[in-house]
Amino acid sequence: MRSEEQKNVYLEDYKPSDYLIPKTEMWIDFAPERTRITTDLHIERRAGAAEDAPLELDGEHIELVSIAIGDEVLGAGQYELSDKGLVLLAPPESFVLSTVVDVEPEKNKSLEGLYRSSGNWCTQCEAEGFRRITYFLDRPDVMSVFTVKMVADKDLAPVLLSNGNPVDRGEMSNNRHFAEWHDPHPKPSYLFAMVAGNLDHISEKFTTKSGKKVDLNIYAEPGKAELCTYAMDALVRSMKWDEDRFGCEYDLDVFNIVAVSDFNAGAMENKGLNIFNDRFVLADPATATDEDYALIERIIAHEYFHNYTGNRVTCRDWFQLCLKEGLTVFRDQEFSSDERFRDVERIDDVKGLRQSQFIEDSGPLAHPPRPSQYEQIDNFYTTTVYEKGAEVVRMLMTLLGKETFHKGVDLYLDRHDGDAATIEQFIKCFEDVSERDLSQFQKWYTQAGRPEVTYSSAYDADEKVLTLNLTQNVPSTPGDSEKSPMVLPIKFGLVSSNGEDLSWERAEGAEVHDDLIVLDQSEASITIHGVSSAPVLSLFREFSAPVSVQTRAPLEEDLHRARLDGDPFNRWESLQSAILNIVTPSMAQDGPNLDEDNLEKVASALSQTLESQELSPSFKALCLKLPTYQDFAQRLGKNIHPERIKQVRRQAVQLVANSLRGQLVTLYSAVKLPETYKPDAKQSGLRALRIQSLALLAALEDKQIFEMVESHYQAAQNMTDRQAALAIICAYAPERAEELLEHFKANYAEPMTVYDKWLGLSASIDDNRAIDRIKMLMEDERFSLETPNRVRSLVGSFIQGNPTQFAREDGAGFDLVADTILKIDKFNPQVAGRFAVAFRIWRNYESNRQNAARKALERMKDEESISPNLSEMVNKTLAG
Ligand SMILES: [Zn+2]
Repeated sequence: MRSEEQKNVYLEDYKPSDYLIPKTEMWIDFAPERTRITTDLHIERRAGAAEDAPLELDGEHIELVSIAIGDEVLGAGQYELSDKGLVLLAPPESFVLSTVVDVEPEKNKSLEGLYRSSGNWCTQCEAEGFRRITYFLDRPDVMSVFTVKMVADKDLAPVLLSNGNPVDRGEMSNNRHFAEWHDPHPKPSYLFAMVAGNLDHISEKFTTKSGKKVDLNIYAEPGKAELCTYAMDALVRSMKWDEDRFGCEYDLDVFNIVAVSDFNAGAMENKGLNIFNDRFVLADPATATDEDYALIERIIAHEYFHNYTGNRVTCRDWFQLCLKEGLTVFRDQEFSSDERFRDVERIDDVKGLRQSQFIEDSGPLAHPPRPSQYEQIDNFYTTTVYEKGAEVVRMLMTLLGKETFHKGVDLYLDRHDGDAATIEQFIKCFEDVSERDLSQFQKWYTQAGRPEVTYSSAYDADEKVLTLNLTQNVPSTPGDSEKSPMVLPIKFGLVSSNGEDLSWERAEGAEVHDDLIVLDQSEASITIHGVSSAPVLSLFREFSAPVSVQTRAPLEEDLHRARLDGDPFNRWESLQSAILNIVTPSMAQDGPNLDEDNLEKVASALSQTLESQELSPSFKALCLKLPTYQDFAQRLGKNIHPERIKQVRRQAVQLVANSLRGQLVTLYSAVKLPETYKPDAKQSGLRALRIQSLALLAALEDKQIFEMVESHYQAAQNMTDRQAALAIICAYAPERAEELLEHFKANYAEPMTVYDKWLGLSASIDDNRAIDRIKMLMEDERFSLETPNRVRSLVGSFIQGNPTQFAREDGAGFDLVADTILKIDKFNPQVAGRFAVAFRIWRNYESNRQNAARKALERMKDEESISPNLSEMVNKTLAG
């Protein structure tokens, strides 16, 4: 279907469905070729709906075998059938509709609905996959109590799982068996799940705060169950944390997780039966890095937390997606902050936000966390909905205070338990507990774009008065140039010459209390009285609002904060921004030479950070990660020459490395790690500090240092050290990389999770063979375009980790990615659409590269059978 024929879906068109389905009974008969699904829908007309209202059930890629109302089998003239669904023109007020359909999971490569992964049957229904399983009102505000009876061959599928609690199981003739599951909680169809297959598992028990015993199981492919122990540990901690922090207690007798190897996204929060991409479950020290462990912990927590924020209270329609995702990402961020180092987690989260959401916000695909229209909802599982959505929830907490915020969440979970809710209803709960008008705050959900903030200040030593002028401006985004001011909670401090925070007496010109300024106008002049000496301002502490600060601080102020700010976030931020301020101008065409003297001053502040007794090794490791290619590209904005960024950045990094050389070598050898590997925050911080010291030293491209890196690789006792050393070689010594990659592949890459790391590292090498190398890897016998993890590891790493080769002037990088997207689009439009975001920065390049990228985009647009998913992405990217 072509884009012109696509119909947008609009939020303002929402209306409740005319029929409800309070009860659903399903019988699933799994067989190798086809799966037969018999469904009884107990349907009732909604009170107030017209008597002759038609019933329009969704259904795609399924074959109707028979249909009946009660005992009466319907003939061909009694319903309308299309490739989008099934319509009953004037059904009775209350009835049971029975359908029998056949599906072919084996042939389903879209990984939506029911499909097979490594021989096992599994499902993925969010957002609109359930309609590929049976005819249904496939929308989140239609909630049903499901009973599911599954039948399969005992050898093919000894394990039969669905949502809710197990109620029956037994033997049947012909080596077949059955299992019946009942979920007492009414749920929308997108939370439906089942798994049938041959799986191993590990088990655990959890006792909830009211004494209820819950059986926990994690299933994986045969032989991989022992790799699930860390995920189980993370699950138990998540369950406890959600009780302690949010009062949420688990509500079924069992909680199952299944890890599968073919999965479009990270994981899915189906009620009582979470299904995971196995990359976010399987781990041991030999195959997973510290980062992998942290990610597993976080995603396990995220999906579990959805049991309340998403499942118990779901979304009225898909426009409200950020209602469940923003809130749940906020919750998983808080979990990690409580389990690990809060300051480090915050910095990592902000880095992630800037490297993806900020780019989205500044480009052709900008949209608010709650969009008002879409073509394909699959394309709206974005960082704006998730990560910016989480920032909005965090701002609510900052604005209202932690205690009031938690009262608001309690009220929301209580008032809307069992409901399909909206953003307005969510915000209303916080208004009710705080008695504060949040209508302007709500713009964060409805207005796209990122506020740009400027500030200036003056200190009057005689009067002891500080004057602070603030402005905000929300730049235009595609299709929306009328912007109004947002509510910005600005956490702040006044840093004295010795690093203490100065106190103050009173303030006027805006809402100011404790450590918070609230800016809700486009500008404000704030007078702060009783400031005893001239301060250095520390604004947006903890990154209290997702804005861009446009004012460039003088180097001395950045360095003062970098050395002394009481807020770790701003301490890190000031180091980064000092480097960005000094280096970025030299990356522009005809830019000045690198200011080496000023860079030396930053190196000296960094040196002081490394010497600190109170800062943690993880924090120091973060500071050693100098701004990335993407950070500079973003700061530069337009007319980007990737080679110039790369070259000037390397020059700057070398200068810092040279200045710190002795200190880094000492640091590298001084860090001592315990013999036994643990993936906890403390140990991984120590490893990170060693690795980052080495990575910075490697920029010197010195033979002796490369020998250190190679022995780090050879001596590595875990995947964290091994992969990190290899990544350094790939970045700085491409000529050595191929041999070591061969060694890595031959010795460690047997598990697919490690094979994926090998693909990713290979794709990151920036030399003139990069494109051919990737084409060759696509021919590797273990590579398949049909498995999203393989494509993400190879092509995703190329886009992200090899920006100069992706944006080659001859367009070969763009072409490679476009060709791959077009191939995937034939069978998996969801993944193809998501990969197309690679092109959202195309207008930021200099003109030759822009032309090359435009050609690749137009080629995709002109493809005959492009999917609606890809079409929406390509058209928006070209138009924006
Ligand atoms: Zn989620």
